[in-house]
Order: sequence, then structure tokens, then C-alpha cells
Amino acid sequence: MAKQEDVFKTIVAHAKEYGFVFQSSEIYDGLSAVYDYGQNGVELKNNIKRYWWEAMTMLHDNIVGIDSAIFMHPTIWKASGHVDAFNDPLIDNKDSKKRYRADVLIEDEIAKFDEKINKEVAKAAKRFGESFDEEMFRKTNPRVMEHIAKRDELHRRYSEAMNANDLAALKQVILDYEIVDPISGTRNWTDVRQFNLMFKTEMGSTADGAMEVYLRPETAQGIFVNYLNVQKTGRMRIPFGIAQIGKAFRNEIVARQFIFRMREFEQMEMQFFVRPGEELKWFDSWRQTRMRWHKALGLGDEKYRFHDHEKLAHYANAATDIEFQMPFGFKEVEGIHSRTNFDLSQHEKFSGKKIQYFDQEIGESYVPYVIETSIGVDRMFLSVLCSCYEAQNLENGESRVVLHFPAPIAPVKCAVLPLVKKDGLPEKAREIQHRLRFDMTCQYDEKDSIGKRYRRQDAIGTPYCVTVDHQTLEDNTVTLRERDSMEQRRVSIDELEKILIENVSLNSLLKKLL
Ligand code: ATP
Repeated sequence: MAKQEDVFKTIVAHAKEYGFVFQSSEIYDGLSAVYDYGQNGVELKNNIKRYWWEAMTMLHDNIVGIDSAIFMHPTIWKASGHVDAFNDPLIDNKDSKKRYRADVLIEDEIAKFDEKINKEVAKAAKRFGESFDEEMFRKTNPRVMEHIAKRDELHRRYSEAMNANDLAALKQVILDYEIVDPISGTRNWTDVRQFNLMFKTEMGSTADGAMEVYLRPETAQGIFVNYLNVQKTGRMRIPFGIAQIGKAFRNEIVARQFIFRMREFEQMEMQFFVRPGEELKWFDSWRQTRMRWHKALGLGDEKYRFHDHEKLAHYANAATDIEFQMPFGFKEVEGIHSRTNFDLSQHEKFSGKKIQYFDQEIGESYVPYVIETSIGVDRMFLSVLCSCYEAQNLENGESRVVLHFPAPIAPVKCAVLPLVKKDGLPEKAREIQHRLRFDMTCQYDEKDSIGKRYRRQDAIGTPYCVTVDHQTLEDNTVTLRERDSMEQRRVSIDELEKILIENVSLNSLLKKLL
């Protein structure tokens, strides 16, 4: 574990050193849980967003996008339930003076039981070899059965307390399971309290009686309140979806793990409107579609898993998370929820406007049901960064840090490097860069030795380097170096463009989805 923590620290330091992510307001000692993206970070982030946006809107005839404002009428948050119920249960440890989310403490404890069970299973699988029957083992091994029983009991009590919003019961679970503060190691806990996560501000001058407004805690409501506008003006027929990318704000109690939990972050959400009764079919379909989108990046299929929700929000009838293996464990990157017609019905009620769809096929009007896919851009960024980072020892005794970004989302696609700064090589290299820059982000670099320049590009994940040498002037060929294999081959300049575009364009990734 300690080792993974060190790896994570190294990745965070690398992200700063190479212009991916900076602490916000750093020269003023920073602002907690707020981050800025640097010159390479913004490119990677934009590419992730483009990959999502185009997969949603270009590849689906029935999904369109919008861009709604961050400020919205405050009644919207009353209707959505955020004013009354967007709370996290928090608990303080009196010794360490640290604050935790009570639900997270308990979920971590549940995960520990799962770890113990998996360890027993792995041990037995090794011992019995091919004849191992995992299902039978789980059902009959006394130690495993004991862990499962304890975990299930913990689950049951936790779900009950959360569903009933019973804060005292939540604290009792923490006490009964002897959950300790990871820092102080003690069980000296305060009571559990609720804390609303929305940021408030004022609109208009106070003299006129300013209106209290919120910074949106999710982008989804901007989609719901525009449902009628889009459906009518786009003449959309159910089933159809509305996609949006935008900032969201949450006054998180415990901001931790770098950009995993921020107070200002970005979401990519798509609300898919369906006929009542068909929502579970669509839920299942979006569950698969979204996992395919993740896996197409090639970061490793084993790094993903679904986590079906124990505790369903009162309006949801199915929910799952797509979790990714971060250096600090499997964590939620995306949520997929079947939200019934809760949001649209609430807006109907609070606005007094009819939000119905007349379904010609069945000759009925209804409030559509909704499947939501909601993914955090920053968490996606973090999963890409962490899984692509590698400190490599090379055969020749040297070492390098390389970011194995999938080429279509790499911040810089190609670097053009003249071998020396004279003899007309810089001019030739500039000419090549100029040809390529209309199709991809392409850097020119002539400083330092060629080896050092390769290392710099490896460290920001540039998939290709093109080296221009004296031979280039004679036969119009260059050396094309591939980042991961470090293989170099000679190609003609005319060929170069085609090879690069084939490998770095977003299309190559999008085509995997069909
Ligand atoms: P968590 O349980 O981790 O707080 P959540 O279930 O509240 O997350 P949702 O409301 O489902 O999250 O939001 C959808 C997505 O938005 C999440 O899957 C995550 O990727 C992203 N997200 C939510 N909160 C944050 C945050 N504070 N910082 C960065 N990303 C976030």
C-alpha cells in the first residue's frame, strides 16, 4: 500500500513538473481542492472531452448537445431535491481533528471484508490448481462464510441507516464495527451531522433585494429544464438523449486524492429520455455502451469494474458505477442511473408547466423516464494519467519516465526535431511541422541533444517524434520514432503524414465503438 501511495505522489509531482495540473492560486499558497490545468493538461482534457462528445453526438442520430448556464433559477434546486437533501453525513475524529464522510468510512470497511474474501479465494485457487471450484469454495469454506456473513450484516445495517437517513444509527455502525480513524487510530468520534454541499452566492445588488443563487452541483438539471426546448425545436422523438459538458461545484467535506475530489470540477452528462416501462432495458444498454467507450481506450480491461448500488436514491430504480483501478483502489469514475420520471415530474410540479411527450406510436402522453450517464472529466483525466505513467529502466542502463497515452488523446501528437541546429535542418523541420500542424498538435524542438529531447517528449506522452537529419535533405526521408517501443524507422515525408493521421486521429478511436 505504502508503495502505491509513493507512486501516486510521484505521479502528482510529474503532473506539475510537466505542465499538466497545478494547484490553484499556488503563489498565494493554494486554494484547497481547486486545481488548474496547464499547457499539456488542457490538451489532454480537451481530447477526453472531444472523445466523449463525439462518441455521444456524432455516433448517435438521436443524441444532441446543449450548453446551459451555471446559474439557474434557485427553485430548480428545490425541485431537484438538492436544497433539502444534497447532504453528506460527516463525522469528526476528536483526536486527529480530521473530518470524514461517515458513509465512506463504512464503505471502506466493507471493502476490507471483500479483500479478505478475495485473498482466501486466491490462496485456495493456487493450492487446488485446475480442480478448484470457486463457487463451491465460497459457499462452504468456514472462514470465507464468516467474512461474507459479517460483510452482509454490515451492508444491511449501513443501507438501512442511509435509507432512513438515521444519523445515530450510522454512528452506531461505526462504533460497533470498531472503525478507527486512519490517522489517529482511535475511535473517539463525534456524532454524525448533515452538511449541504451546494455553494451559495447572490445575484443582483443587495439594495434591490438580491436573489440567493447556487453554483450548480451537477449539469443534469440544465438538461432537464431544457427538455421541452430541445424536444420541440429539434423535433426529437423518444427515445432520444441530450448531452452536456460543463463545470459543477460541490463544497466537499473532505477533499482528497488530488483531482479525484475537487470543489470545482467538470462533468460530461447525458440524459436519455425513454418510454416508461422501457427504462431498465435502456439502462442495461447504456451500461454496456459506456463500458465499451472506456475499454476502447486500451488502458487495460482488468482496470474496470461495475459497482451496483446498494443504496438507491428514492427516485432511482437502478444504478451502477463504473469504477477504475486508481493507485488508491477501485474508485467511481462514472455513474449510470435509471432516474425514473422524478426530475421532469418535479419540474412540472414546481414550474407549473406541462412537461409531457405525446408518443404517436402508442397514442399516449407521458412524462418520459430518464437514463443518465454521468462522468467526471477530471476523474477520467486522473485514471488516464495514473494508468499511463511508467518509470522505466532501459536495457542500456538508462531510465526514462514515459506516459503511454492512447495516441488519439495525447496532448502533443508529434514532435519534429532537427538533429542539429544548422545546415538547413531547422528550416526543413519547420517545413514539416507546418505541414502537419493543420491535422494535429505538433511541436518543434531544437534545444539539447536528441536523446534529451526524446525524453522530454516521452515525459509528456508524445506518441511520435520525427527527426530531420542530413539524409533528409538528400532523399526527403526522416526518422520516425515510436514512443512505447522506441523503435525508429526511415519513412518518406510524403508517407509520414498518412501514417501519423491514421494513428493519432480521434476517428481511429471512435471507429472502435461501432
Ligand atoms: P462520490 O460518491 O465520489 O462523491 P457521486 O456519486 O456524488 O461521487 P455523481 O453525483 O454521480 O457523483 O457525479 C457524477 C460524476 O461526477 C462522478 O462519477 C465523478 O466522476 C464526478 N464527480 C462527482 N463529484 C466530484 C468531485 N468532487 N470532484 C471531481 N469529480 C467529481
